Amino acid sequence: MRYVSTRGGVAPISFSQAVMMGLATDGGLLLPEQIPQITPDQLRHWAGLSFQELAVEVMTPFMTPGEKVTGQLPELVQRSFKSFAHPEVTPVIRAGEHWILELFHGPTLAFKDVALQFLGNLFETLLKEENGHLNILGATSGDTGSAAIHGVRGRAGIHVFILHPYGRVSPIQERQMTSVLDANVHNIAIRGSFDDGQNIVKELFNDLAFKKDYRLGAVNSINWARILAQIVYFFYAWGRVSGGDPAKRMIFSVPTGNFGDIFAGYMALRMGLPVERLVLATNQNDILVRFMESGEYRIGTVHPTISPSMDIQISSNFERYLYYLLDEDPEAVREAMRRLQKENVFAVSGHKRHQALEIFAPRRVSEAQTLERIRITFDRYGVLVDPHTAVGVEAARDFPGAVCLATAHAAKFGAAVAKAVGREPELPPAFQGLMERPTRCCVLDPDPEAVRAFIRMELA
Ligand SMILES: *Cc1c(COP(=O)(O)O)cnc(C)c1O
Repeated sequence: MRYVSTRGGVAPISFSQAVMMGLATDGGLLLPEQIPQITPDQLRHWAGLSFQELAVEVMTPFMTPGEKVTGQLPELVQRSFKSFAHPEVTPVIRAGEHWILELFHGPTLAFKDVALQFLGNLFETLLKEENGHLNILGATSGDTGSAAIHGVRGRAGIHVFILHPYGRVSPIQERQMTSVLDANVHNIAIRGSFDDGQNIVKELFNDLAFKKDYRLGAVNSINWARILAQIVYFFYAWGRVSGGDPAKRMIFSVPTGNFGDIFAGYMALRMGLPVERLVLATNQNDILVRFMESGEYRIGTVHPTISPSMDIQISSNFERYLYYLLDEDPEAVREAMRRLQKENVFAVSGHKRHQALEIFAPRRVSEAQTLERIRITFDRYGVLVDPHTAVGVEAARDFPGAVCLATAHAAKFGAAVAKAVGREPELPPAFQGLMERPTRCCVLDPDPEAVRAFIRMELA
């Protein structure tokens, strides 16, 4: 398989080149040249596989034949999911008329671990091969940063620098980052907001000499390998629920922010997984729902909610779907992105909008509905869901039998859950004592110079 950019400005590259490139050099996102096709016989067979066996089957057609990493895939997959606390990795349970796909058994209790545990292993393997090194730099409001830290802790050839807003992430999220004492992990608490951290990161990436000298890489929510790892659990859930009958079409409800998870579902559908609908569930930050309702993709302002990992202004992975919606025409994607940058909006035709609605069912969920859904799911079925998951379950109200993706463990967002059910959920056993563990973190002013000096010092 070779990879091309949604904006057409990258000559086809291999799988490992695509992983190391992250964001395409023309500003677009990387996609496989073709989408591998699965036969009904394969589907039947795959339904009986373990998560790890299935991961190898799903990922293999996306790799590039002849590359060293292609042969190492089975071993990479084995290593990546050892850190999950559940033997099935992503088990499916029943909650009334819905299924819940539990994606939160990884080291930071959120679904991002599935992809970042794999990506960490992949980076290490690729860097070893070229005898290279990489310094990952990113700003986080909580989930991505901790999943990235746990993905690369202790790995050869990689350092990771994560900026979080001092005192403004939840206590559990803070500890999940700062209690990691590996020498290659560098936590920076910025005396300021998430945006201050984000701006510093942008400024350092724009300093091309610094970026090159220090081989800076991003914790890209747009890295193709992250999408690839996430495709696996759509097949896994289908196999567990359908029993392997290719005639059984399934609905998935996906709590959506940057459109990464739901795009993985779209890829699974395009590969031939029998998917009837993808419920696109958002909180008040509803740019995607508004797009599906009006055909206009218009940038708004961010509203803080109790499902903060979906509080986004634009969805960075949406460009990947747009590429397919616009008939794989890079010129049309470029034009849309040009308009978005200049005018904060672009539009598609009514015909295109209806095409999108044949696949996606857009649903916006309010804060009150989210809390009420947490309460109902617990009272009726004894299942405690976190606020992000609750958005997806509420959005699937009209879709009995849907598989709802549980994107975080309820204890990770304990305060909101307590508001709904009257008590804080318990942390899994491995996390007890987290708040008492020793920590390491450097507190800095919101000043790019201070962060640059810190990075130089740590790597000297
Ligand atoms: C990141 C995240 C989401 C949103 O996923 P996207 O791939 O950005 O759409 C939903 N829930 C949780 C808990 C998350 O951490």
